[in-house]
Amino acid sequence: MDAKKIFNSLDQIKLSIDQHKDEIEKLDQEIGDGDHIFNIQRGIKESLDLKDELSDQAPNDVLKKIGMKIMTTVGGSSGALFSTLLMGMSKKYNEDLSDQQNIAKMFSEGVEAMKKRGKADLGEKTMLDVLIPVSNELKKLSDQDDVKNTAEKIKEVAEKGMLSTKDLIATKGRASFLGDRAKGHIDPGARSSQLAIEAICNSILNK
Ligand code: ADP
Ligand code: MG
Repeated sequence: MDAKKIFNSLDQIKLSIDQHKDEIEKLDQEIGDGDHIFNIQRGIKESLDLKDELSDQAPNDVLKKIGMKIMTTVGGSSGALFSTLLMGMSKKYNEDLSDQQNIAKMFSEGVEAMKKRGKADLGEKTMLDVLIPVSNELKKLSDQDDVKNTAEKIKEVAEKGMLSTKDLIATKGRASFLGDRAKGHIDPGARSSQLAIEAICNSILNK
């Protein structure tokens, strides 16, 4: 893992999020206030703007600085939560571990930090319904050498988590104000998180 790989992943995420802009916007208009796509695109842009400045820095510093930038520039719940995820991840980087092992440990720490920050857990119709199962699967597969198999599995788990939000009622975030009326709609944060994870997995699978 290095700065270049992190920024390449961000490029892939940007492509997919931009392609699904209208869909994500509509999802947040249905059960939120419609700004989720704006927050996500802003976060990606602010992060990519750091590419030159951070190009020779250690991965943990890159993640931490991107997290701090998102904290100060991106609004909404998702700004604070993604920033917490990235800063949490940066704390567990260990250069002696393989990428697979590092990613599993770092992602788990980031997701735990996000759970605490948003006082939320699995089954509350948020992005955590994607991120928690992905974190668990990464842990399970962290000692496997077959990176493509891992990417394939992670993609499946992320998609399943995203789809699971459709029939849930929300107990956190703006969608919780809607009660039963949120049912039948996929959570926008779950969709954008799943697309980001899928983009990274696809870039591994297409290598
Ligand atoms: P806001 O809700 O403040 O307008 P966004 O629209 O950017 O912020 O993000 C909404 C997304 O944030 C939701 O779709 C949901 O996935 C996620 N979210 C909201 N509250 C929480 C929480 N407490 N924990 C985890 N994710 C949350
Ligand atoms: Mg919103």
